Amino acid sequence: MNRWLPKKSLNSLHAHRELLDIPQVALLPFGLQHSNGFISLTDHHKAIHQFRHTIENQLEILRISLDVSSVVLLWVGPTKTQLLNYAHSSIYPDLLSGPFDCAAGIIGGLRENIDLAFSPYRPGSPAIPYYSSAAHTGSFYAQTISIEGIDSHEKVGILCVDRSLKEQWTQAERSLISLTREQITSALVLSRDHLFADFERQTLQQVFNGIRILNSALDSDSVYAAAVQALGHVVEADVVAIGSIHKDFLDLNFLSTQSVAELSQARFPLEDSIVGQVVKYRRTLPETGDSSGAAQVINGFSFYDRFRSVQVVPLFQEDGPVTKVMIVAAEKKDQLPRNCRDMIEMVAAQVAIKLDLARAHDQINNMAITDTLTGIANRRAFQRGFSAMYERALRRGSAFSLIIGDIDLFKSINDTFGHPFGDQVIQQVARQLTDVVRVGDLAARIGGEEFAILLEDTDGRGALEVAERLRQKVEGLRLTLQQKRVPVTISLGVAAFPRDTEDQEKLFSCADQALYQAKESGRNRSVRWGTL
Ligand code: GH3
Ligand code: MG
Ligand code: MG
Repeated sequence: MNRWLPKKSLNSLHAHRELLDIPQVALLPFGLQHSNGFISLTDHHKAIHQFRHTIENQLEILRISLDVSSVVLLWVGPTKTQLLNYAHSSIYPDLLSGPFDCAAGIIGGLRENIDLAFSPYRPGSPAIPYYSSAAHTGSFYAQTISIEGIDSHEKVGILCVDRSLKEQWTQAERSLISLTREQITSALVLSRDHLFADFERQTLQQVFNGIRILNSALDSDSVYAAAVQALGHVVEADVVAIGSIHKDFLDLNFLSTQSVAELSQARFPLEDSIVGQVVKYRRTLPETGDSSGAAQVINGFSFYDRFRSVQVVPLFQEDGPVTKVMIVAAEKKDQLPRNCRDMIEMVAAQVAIKLDLARAHDQINNMAITDTLTGIANRRAFQRGFSAMYERALRRGSAFSLIIGDIDLFKSINDTFGHPFGDQVIQQVARQLTDVVRVGDLAARIGGEEFAILLEDTDGRGALEVAERLRQKVEGLRLTLQQKRVPVTISLGVAAFPRDTEDQEKLFSCADQALYQAKESGRNRSVRWGTL
C-alpha cells in the first residue's frame, strides 16, 4: 500500500476551504443553511454589509415618514428558535439586540398571524422584546416577513413599529409599513439569490481547480497525490483513503495519513460495512455525510469515534462496476454538507477515470523497465539508473560502485540441459541478486546471462564484499535436473566511482575489464578493477 503523502498536498487539505465562517452567520439575515449546504464566502463580507446598510436606510426612512419612535427588524437567528434585532432606527439609544425567545411576548402572538396591532399599547399587553421598559410606548404595530424559501415559504422576520401616540394605525400608515416590508423582502431575495449563485460559481471554480491538478497526473502515485490536492480545494478533510475492491474485499491502496493505526492492515472484508453497501448500491454513503450510525465504515473499524464526518464514495466509470472506493473523513462535525459532497463526487468521477488510465500507464512503465524473464530491472532501466546514480554522486560528491556479473560457461549449461533449464538458472541467479541489494541499489539483467548491480554510497571495498556474497550464494545454489546436480557459478567485476574513474563510460568498462580478469583467472571469482 502506498502510504506516502507529499507535504504540500497535506497542507492543501486545510488551506482552501473558506465555506463556513461563524461570525457571518449573525450578519446574514437569512439561513446560511441552504438545502445545498452552507453558503457564505469570505469575499461575501462586503455584499452582506451592503445589504444591512440598505435595510437600515429603509427603516430610517419609514421611521421619519411615519414620525414614530422605533422601527425594528427582528430576524430569525441561526437556531430558528430565537429572534435577533437585525437592524433598527430609533429615537432611543439603548435598544436590546437579543436574542429573543420566539414564544415570548409579541413574538409569540405573531406565530399564527401575519400582523398584530396594539393601539393603545397597555402595560398588560405582551412585552415588546427590544425594550427593557415599554413605559413610553403608546401604540405598536408589527408585520411578519416571509420569503419563498428553497424548500418552503418560511417566516424569516418581523418588522415592528412603535410610537408614543395611542391612536389607531391608519390604513395609509399600514400601507406604508407593508411597502417597506415588501422592499425589504425583495432586497433580501435578490441578495440571497446573488450570494447563492456566486457561491455555486465559486464552488465550480474550486472543483475545476482541483480537477486541473488531476489532469497532469500520469502514474497511480501521482493520481493519489493529486486526488488529495483536488479534495483539498473542496473539503477540509483529515483523511483520504483509496482502495480497490477485489471480490469480497477492500484492499487499501492509498492512505493520506499514517495516524490511523486501525487502517495499517491493507485488506478488509466488505461484509457488514458501509464500504460494502457503497459497492453494492453504487451510491455515496452515509446519506447525510455525518456519522453517528452504528454501521462500520470499514469492516472492524467504525471511524465514528474519531471522525465525525465521513463519506465513502464509489469510483466507477459509466455503467461499469464499482472497482474502487474513496473514503473522505474529517474529525470535526458538519464538514461534509451537501454541496461539499457534490463536489467530492465530481472529483471522484475524475479520479476514477484517472486511476484507470494510471493503471495502464503503470503497466506500460513496468513493461518498459522490467525484464520479463526475471522480473528485475532490464538493460534500459539499468542505463537510466546508472546515469541517475552517476549524476547524483557527482552532485553530492559521494561514492557509488558497479558490479557486472556473467554466469560461467552458460553455453554448456544450455547445450547440456536445454534452453528452458538455462532460463531457470537465469531466474535463480536473478533472485540471488535481489537478495544482496539494499533499498536504493539497483539489480538488473543487462544481457542474456549478464547482470549488473549499482550500489549507492558504496566504495570499491564494500562493493567487492557484496560481489563476493553474491558469488557464494550462486555457488551455493542447489540446482538439479533429473536428480543430477547442476553446478552454477558466476564471475564478477567491480569498479568504484570516483576512486577508479570519474567518467561514467569508463566506469562501466573498468567493471567489464575486471569481469574479464575474473574469467581469465579461472572463473567463479570476484575481481575489483586494478587489483589483478
Ligand atoms: P563464460 O564463462 O565465458 O561466460 O562462458 P559462457 O558459455 O557463458 O559464454 P557466452 O557468453 O559465450 O555464452 C552465453 C550464452 O548464453 C549464449 C546464449 O545462447 C545463452 N543465452 C543468452 N541469453 C539466454 C537466455 O535468455 N536464455 C538461455 N537459456 N540462454 C541464453
Ligand atoms: Mg556472456
Ligand atoms: Mg557467460
